[in-house]
Amino acid sequence: MSDNIRINLAHIHARITRATLAAGRIPGDVKLLLATKTVPAARIREALEAGYTLIAENKVQELKEKFEALKDLPHENHFIGHLQSNKIKDLLKYDVTCLQSLDRLDLAEKLHQKLLSENRTMEVLIQVNTSGEESKFGIDPSRAVDFTRAVAGLETLRVKGLMTIGLFSTDTEKVRRCFRLLHALRDEIGALGLAGVEMKELSMGMSGDLETAIAEGATMVRVGTAVFGQRPTPDSYYWNEKSSIT
Ligand SMILES: *Cc1c(COP(=O)(O)O)cnc(C)c1O
Repeated sequence: MSDNIRINLAHIHARITRATLAAGRIPGDVKLLLATKTVPAARIREALEAGYTLIAENKVQELKEKFEALKDLPHENHFIGHLQSNKIKDLLKYDVTCLQSLDRLDLAEKLHQKLLSENRTMEVLIQVNTSGEESKFGIDPSRAVDFTRAVAGLETLRVKGLMTIGLFSTDTEKVRRCFRLLHALRDEIGALGLAGVEMKELSMGMSGDLETAIAEGATMVRVGTAVFGQRPTPDSYYWNEKSSIT
């Protein structure tokens, strides 16, 4: 880990390329999304200027705070955090193109209503809790098919695939099981041929486990720490309502 974002980005790029080739896949098949929670806008700018333009926040508040400072540089915003329904309007206001953390039907319905009223559409990924950890958001794998069917009925939402946070473990095989499960669910749902559902993306893998995720078919990895350094805030703040430190 260096303080130099360009060096870190080059390292990550090399890791992704190596893992993609090792999996017999074509470099370019795996997109890099930068997870920018807690990262000041000035540091995000460095990454955008280096050509890495797909970024994502976990909190609407941070999206809002950094919006002005980044808007002159071309980039694409995804959203990867737990979203309260009363914040939906901000996703539209701040040009989020994909909500990767869709995990509740009431949220999907409210987002749909808002999009309808503005005559817009939005891409979504369905977040699945593949690790079974209580602290992680996402729907239970056993409900993924029914949930996707329900979301498919909301025509403003373009389902593009699935997202998961793998188990935090040094046991690679346990982590691998999470990613395999997501891949299997994508194939199962894809085979249903639901209208408005394109099961293309598998958003999985982070700084610590992206090689495993790519080996298991990730099309997008979400990296924060390995590019921007350690965060001052514990991840429980973002991933577990119960332990949030407001
Ligand atoms: C923070 C975060 C990441 C990136 O995690 P790192 O370990 O810092 O790479 C990926 N996905 C989600 C949903 C996150 O909140």
